[in-house]
Amino acid sequence: MFNLAEFMSKHVFYKAWDIKERSHRLSEWKQLEAQQWWTREQLENLQNERLKCILTHAYHNSDYYKQLCDDQGVNPAQEFSLDIFSRIPVTTKLDIRNKNTAFISKGADRGQLVTAKTGGSTGVSLELHFDRHCQQKRNAAQLMADRWAGWDLGVKRAAVWGNPVHPVTIKQKIRHHLMDRIIYLDTMNLNDASMGDFVDRWQVEKPGVIFGHAHSIFIFARYLIKEGITNIRPRGVIATSMMLLDHERAIIEQAFGRKVTNRYGCEEVGLIASECNEHNGMHLNLPHVYVEFLDANDQPVQEGEPGKIVVTDLNNYAMPLIRYRVEDVGVYTERACPCGRGFPLLERLEGRLADFLKLPDGGEVAGISLVERTLTNVPGIEQMQLIQESTNLIVVNRVKGRDYTTNTDDCLTESLREVFGDRLRVSINEVEHIPQEKSGKYRFSICKI
Ligand SMILES: [Zn+2]
Repeated sequence: MFNLAEFMSKHVFYKAWDIKERSHRLSEWKQLEAQQWWTREQLENLQNERLKCILTHAYHNSDYYKQLCDDQGVNPAQEFSLDIFSRIPVTTKLDIRNKNTAFISKGADRGQLVTAKTGGSTGVSLELHFDRHCQQKRNAAQLMADRWAGWDLGVKRAAVWGNPVHPVTIKQKIRHHLMDRIIYLDTMNLNDASMGDFVDRWQVEKPGVIFGHAHSIFIFARYLIKEGITNIRPRGVIATSMMLLDHERAIIEQAFGRKVTNRYGCEEVGLIASECNEHNGMHLNLPHVYVEFLDANDQPVQEGEPGKIVVTDLNNYAMPLIRYRVEDVGVYTERACPCGRGFPLLERLEGRLADFLKLPDGGEVAGISLVERTLTNVPGIEQMQLIQESTNLIVVNRVKGRDYTTNTDDCLTESLREVFGDRLRVSINEVEHIPQEKSGKYRFSICKI
């Protein structure tokens, strides 16, 4: 069915807005749309060129990276190779927090920079800066990934999101009406009444895609199934900002009658990877981010092995981030995707570094995988959150499921002891739901050691 508002938004308002704002977003987006089909060789050449550019820029403009490069005998203006590049030590969140101003480029007009704050859930909250050009490129990458999920310019979106931004100024209101075209379900207030209102609004506005934190979409999906609502049928469902658990994915796909498009990114560099229409691994956003997977000694891991994700932002010239450790763990693969795109694949995320729990023998276990395993093995649990207080004590916040019996908690304890040993003490709290963090995200596994 022809939709005039959608048509006008796509063909007129987007372009007009970008011209008025002198934005590079649509031109960058066009480039990305072409680049995704390039061969790996072409893409790697592009990536190396961009790496060399940002490193050279950082060397001459950021006191922090000048010092790091000099210490390692790296002078990017003279020669560049990935080997030389990998001599630069990894940058951590603490480095940024301790030496924030040393990261910002000398030539950057600080008054014009956009500032983003990251949440403190990994223990360190940060202030990041980038210029508008960088922001436009990041937005372009979102447009590309949104299209992989079934969205297109002009299509109305539904967001399941914490602390939604409401347009205030006239400019914001115009933009909201003509382009952003978005309705919100506020995840700070998820209950049957608010979700019911949202369903009513959905029937009127008919958004084309829904996106949000994976677990929040799951809660909404569960509500739809419970209420027997089967006419919420977006063209795409985009889960982002946190781990998408297998059982949650299944419920979401059942509720919306659509495959979920899982996406991975962070405040610091924007989109890192996204699933395509094949939904089998996430394509790395290669033109914008150089991604490495490193072991405990910051050496590259093999394909198929979990590695700490380290990124270099190829867009941010105002505050270069080179070999920055995101504090997530992921697995890459050389497997080619049947879709034919040249962007390499992130096979899967293993979770946040901070969410790995410590085993008695000194090993570690991805908390999110443990939660998944327990939910699969032990009947009667709807949701759970693991908090490791010490090597021998785990606190479990547990939401009763339909199959809950007096045996459930014993099975839960037993299941955890299989992993952590017989000396493990398990303290189970009955809760109504798992609380979310200020950002609207959920953490199912927290290590306090
Ligand atoms: Zn693909």
